[in-house]
This record gives sequence, C-alpha cells and structure tokens, in this order.
Amino acid sequence: MGEQRELKTALERHWRGEIGADALEAQAAELRARHWRLQQQAGLDHVTVGDFALYDHVANLIQLLGCEPARFGFTGRETPLQRYFAMARGTAAHSHGEACGCGATSGEGALALEMTKWFDTNYHYLVPEFDDATTFALNPERLLAELDEAIALPASPKVALLGPVSFLFLGKSRQNGFDRLALLERLLPAYEQLLNRLAARGVTWVQLDEPILGLDLSPTWQDALRQAYGRLARIDQQLMLATYFSPLGDNLALACELPVAGLHVDAVRAPQELLAVAARLPAERELSVGIIDGRNIWRSDLDHALQLLGQARELRGGRLWVAASCSLLHVPFSLRHDPALDTELQGWLAGAVEKLDELRVLKRALWGDDAGVSRGLAESRVARAARVVSPRVRNGTVSARLKALPADADRRRSPFPARQLAQRQRLNLPAFPTTSIGSFPQTPEIRAARAGFKRGTLDERVYRQAMQREIERAVRKQEALGLDVLVHGEAERNDMVEYFGEQLAGFAFTANGWVQSYGSRCVKPPVLFGDVSRPRAMTVDWTVFAQSLTDRPMKGMLTGPITILQWSFVRDDQPRADTALQIALAIRDEVADLEAAGIAVIQIDEPAIREGLPLRRAAWGPYLAWATRAFRVAASPVRDDTQIHTHMCYSEFNDILPEIAAMDADVITIETSRSDMELLRGFADFRYPNEIGPGVYDIHSPRVPAAAEMLRLLKKAAAVIPPELLWVNPDCGLKTRGWPETEAALRHMVAAARELRTHHA
Ligand code: GLN
Ligand code: ZN
Repeated sequence: MGEQRELKTALERHWRGEIGADALEAQAAELRARHWRLQQQAGLDHVTVGDFALYDHVANLIQLLGCEPARFGFTGRETPLQRYFAMARGTAAHSHGEACGCGATSGEGALALEMTKWFDTNYHYLVPEFDDATTFALNPERLLAELDEAIALPASPKVALLGPVSFLFLGKSRQNGFDRLALLERLLPAYEQLLNRLAARGVTWVQLDEPILGLDLSPTWQDALRQAYGRLARIDQQLMLATYFSPLGDNLALACELPVAGLHVDAVRAPQELLAVAARLPAERELSVGIIDGRNIWRSDLDHALQLLGQARELRGGRLWVAASCSLLHVPFSLRHDPALDTELQGWLAGAVEKLDELRVLKRALWGDDAGVSRGLAESRVARAARVVSPRVRNGTVSARLKALPADADRRRSPFPARQLAQRQRLNLPAFPTTSIGSFPQTPEIRAARAGFKRGTLDERVYRQAMQREIERAVRKQEALGLDVLVHGEAERNDMVEYFGEQLAGFAFTANGWVQSYGSRCVKPPVLFGDVSRPRAMTVDWTVFAQSLTDRPMKGMLTGPITILQWSFVRDDQPRADTALQIALAIRDEVADLEAAGIAVIQIDEPAIREGLPLRRAAWGPYLAWATRAFRVAASPVRDDTQIHTHMCYSEFNDILPEIAAMDADVITIETSRSDMELLRGFADFRYPNEIGPGVYDIHSPRVPAAAEMLRLLKKAAAVIPPELLWVNPDCGLKTRGWPETEAALRHMVAAARELRTHHA
C-alpha cells in the first residue's frame, strides 16, 4: 500500500474518475521502485517481483493465466485494467458514466468475484472460478513489464507467484460436482510457458507459493503437487517452492521430495520442524528459512534466530537462504517511528521496513561480516530485554487473579433449562422475540461528532449530548417498530475492537499501522502488548442511559475476548490462551457491572471465533477448548435470570456447532440469510440446546426484503429448530446502512415475527 497508503489514495481517486489509468500506473510503479530500493538497502540478494497488485495478487494471477470467468462477458474492447477492476469490484451496482473506469460493457453488469480470507489472515483474496469450460492463455505483459522495471534499477529479481496447485485449490467450482483438479493438465502449460519466458529474461529464481502444504491435504491433492512439480521440473528455471503459515506436518516428506531447486519453510510458525526439513531436503537443494515473523509486529529475538539458523546451516553444509516467514503484506509498513506510540513501545516493534533490517543483521552475522553487526544485535537485545522487564507489560494483580481463578469460573450457576425459566419470568417476551445485532446506521453526523471529540474540537459535554440524542432516537424508533429487545445503537463506537481496546490497559494504538484487508481497504489492528485489565466500566453509562428511556429490556453490547484477540496484533511472550483469558476477565467485570446496573440482557459478540481456528484440524481441539472457556469466563458471573447472548457471522459454523453450543450462551444470533439458511442444515444433525436467532435478512445490501420473504426463512428455521427456541433478527449489525432502509427492513421483520406467532399460537 505504501508508507502513506499511497496506493489506496491513487486507487480510490481512479475509481472516482479523478485520475486516469496512466497516473494510477505511475503511482504503482513508483511504489514498486521504492519498495525494491528498501529491499536493496537492506542488502537482500534478490528483490521480489510479482508480489505487487493493484487489488489482489490472486486476481493478478487470474489475468496472467488468462482465465477471467466468462460470466463477465468481456468483449475484448476493454483494457486489461478495466477488466481487472470489473472482476474485483463487480459492475452491477452503478451506472457507467464517462469517468467510470470499471470496464463493464453495458446493461446488466456482473457481480464481483467472491472474496474470502487468505488462510488464517485478515487479508481477503478474490476467488478464481472454474468450470469445465475454463481455459488458460498466458498474458505475461504486466508481469514482464514489472520485471523489466526491477532489472532496470538495476536489481536482481526473484519472481514470486502462487503455484498452480494452490491456485486451483483456492478457487471454486462453478458447476456442481465439477472437480477443479481436472484443470491441472490445462493449467500447467501456461505455467511452463511463463517459466520459459522468465528464464529467457534471465531470471535466476522463481518462487512458487504452495501454502496448501500447510493444510490437511487429501492424497489426490498431494498427487497433484507431485504431478505439477514433476512436469515443471523439465523447464530450465530454478524454482523455490514456498510454504508458510502452518507446519508441514504429514506433508513434510512430500515437500522435501518435490523436484524443485529450493524449499522455503516458515520457521516462525513451525520452528520445531526446521531441523527435520534441513536434514531431509536433498543436499543439492537450497533451503530458505523464514525466520522473521511476517505475521506479527514484535522485534525478533535475533540471538535465538541465529542459533536456529546456525544449526540449520550446519545440516545444509554451510548453505542457507534467510527470509521473512511469509509476505510482509500482513504487517504495517513501518512502526519504529509511529507518532502515536511512545519511544519505549516503538523500540519493541518491527514493521516491514524494520523486518528488512533484521534480515540484514542476520545475514551479516551469519556470514561473519562484522561491520555494524554487533551494534545491530546489541540494539535488538537491549530492546527485547527492556520489553521483558518493563513494568508496562506485567501487572501482578492480573496474574494473581488468573492464578486464583476458581475452576468453575466458566460455569453459570444453573444449567440452561433453569436459566431459561428464570429469564422468561423476568423478561416476559413473546414467542419469536425480535431484536437487532447492536449497531444502527452511523450517520455522517455521528461520525463527525466522534471525530470532533477525538480531535478535541468538540468538548465532552457536547459530545455526550450528541450521543445521547442518537441513543434516544434509536430507542424511539425501535419502540415504534415494535421490537422486543432493544439496543442502544453503538453510536459511540468507531470499531467494535478499538472501542474496548482504547479503554483497556495493555493495548496501544498506532497512527499508521495499516494492513491491507482487501483492495484499497486497510485496517489498523490494536497492539496488545501487556497484561490486560479494565481500569473502569466501559459501556455501563451509555447502556443505563438507554435503559432509562424505555420499559423494554435494553441489551448491553460487548465484544468478546476471542474477537478482541483475533483482530489485534497479540503479544508473543505468552500463549494466546493466556491473553484471551485476561481479556475475558476484563469483559467479565463489565458483564457484572452491567448486571448490577439493572441490565437484564447482555450480548457478547464473537464473530471472529471461527477464524481463530488453526489451519490444521489436529490443532482445533485445544484452540476451541481455551477459546470457548474464555468466552464462558466472560459470560458467567451473572445470575440465572440475566440473559447472555452471543453473535457470530460470516464464517462456516457447521463444523464447530458442538463447541459453539459449549459456549453456553442463552441465545445465539447468527448470520444465515445470505446462504438461504444453509447453516440450518447443520442443525438437522446437531441439536443446538439453547435459544437461537438465525439472521433473516442480509445487511450488506440496501435492498429491503418483503415480510413474506423473511417469513419463508423463519418457517424453514422453525422446521429444524424447536419454535420455542427461535429468535428473529437481522444477520448482523446495521452500522453501514441508512435509516430509511433499516426502518423498512425491521418493520417487515417485526411483521414476519407477528405473522409467525399467529401460526404457532
Ligand atoms: N454488535 C456489533 C454490531 O452490530 C456486531 C458486529 C459484528 O458482528 N461484526 O455492529
Ligand atoms: Zn455480525
């Protein structure tokens, strides 16, 4: 994205029609050159080419391999760039004026390629689409032009691309029953041609990423890797096969035997495997050790790294590549001078630029080039040591509390049936109760008030009044709509993790720590650097104010420990499980305070619980055990008649339903409508024991579904979920929507619930 997110700015200006394609491409070329120069200054032997994308690197590959889905109906009159953005952004939702660079032809338009998370990161790639009509035809112009830019610097390029088998694996079949592996035979010639072209340009190394080697692979996919690399081995081009994010596990032998010139492994995520790989990989191959963490932001322990590298080098007869564990796309550009961080914190952190410098120090230390190395190592040592002893990291009260935590701290007082009874008496809700997920439309006025308060241009009293007016508006509207359990609307929250992180001890926030999420969108994850504690209540005032306006139950809204953990850069000096438990204790205190203030319903959102799952199934059990326990610790200090909700969305939940049930929330609201209640198939096999609100309408679109449509979904749900357990709610929060469509959709939703009540009366 660039140090100042220059690419974001240029892209968005281009999409608004303010700059043309040439200006966009010029900005992109400048960024590439700048980033290559940084790599050269760090003494890297190769700069990487092929990792730059205007939107997404998988989308680049779709164009490079000439397999743009036919459904876009490209005529050949569009420029490649127009086609690229059409795939990335779709062409349906707007009209194509003069300035529109989207590339759509005319008429109907097409939906963008689907987007999904890249392995266990928060980066989203565009999903290739395959069917038996898919063909491949190499379009190497863009890549070759970038290669020429690097050569002209001059620099020695290593071209890095996703490998053919992972490319097919990460795509989806457009036809039922179509096996996309059947395309491998057609795909390989395009890779072969490409490798020949690159060899002809004098490229010495091509890195092909096969991150699926870190997944549980079926024998068919393992064979596909053998077949693919067996064929590519016939080309006179050295290949570096790269894996990352996950241990090789039972793919270790396979990875070591594929006929390539080198193998890159992630020694940060799987240090325990490194020496086995070093011993096993045939002697004539190169081993590239990903030793600098590409997924987190802490300064490395270079002494430890050197020790590990030294052992590996010995096994490799003195030869070794040293690298970052994975692409540096997943960390901020630089953190060492971030103006929002004090100098102590700055010294503990390493963004991409600082990580390059760590590589420089390691390389020199390993190969005995002493100039500046001892200083580099000493600096790193001092910074790490300062972090270890800093009083900001450890809080005795927190560790004492963890130690003294009773074994049953994660248990409600009574089992669900008793709680359900107590809650029914206290809340007195109708059948099929209606509620929303928390946030209401974040209008420009709300954003302006929050921004003004943050900048200091709006004083606290005026800000509070503005937020209270919003809360009152939300409450009145919900009463008028006839919702049963109300929310205050979350106007005061910019982001569901940031809001809590800013009030908890142990978190820091950067000014420029942006990481790409998708396309031009970036997120700025909080930095969780120390023991977590809660100096004071975080949500009680707002919630109590909201409750004071109405007789209906007001739901207190909290973000759960796993979601806070998952969407932050987390400390590496203790297990994630321990950090999760600390956050859970802080949330637990908030839950207790809300209850004491008279709030009868409390929702603890955990939308990210699924994405924390390890990439390998064997590791799921331990993760799910500590993650669900952390949730229960947060949720359990309350009386039986206080109702705990949780909320989840936008993940595949069917394979972890028993663990979701083990969280023991009284009510779960869960996104389902986008897949036409696909989730409910899971409930046919697994009987969810507590109450459940499957989302009845998609909140991503301004479209207002008719009451009949929602009723149809509800009836579908009532067929597999006992009606007395069923709630009625949207898929997720409504902050990105406008009020008119929100009110209309909720009115239809309430009507659908009322209709359902008459059927079941
Ligand atoms: N309570 C949050 C909201 O409504 C939940 C958001 C989410 O699930 N991502 O905005
Ligand atoms: Zn949600």
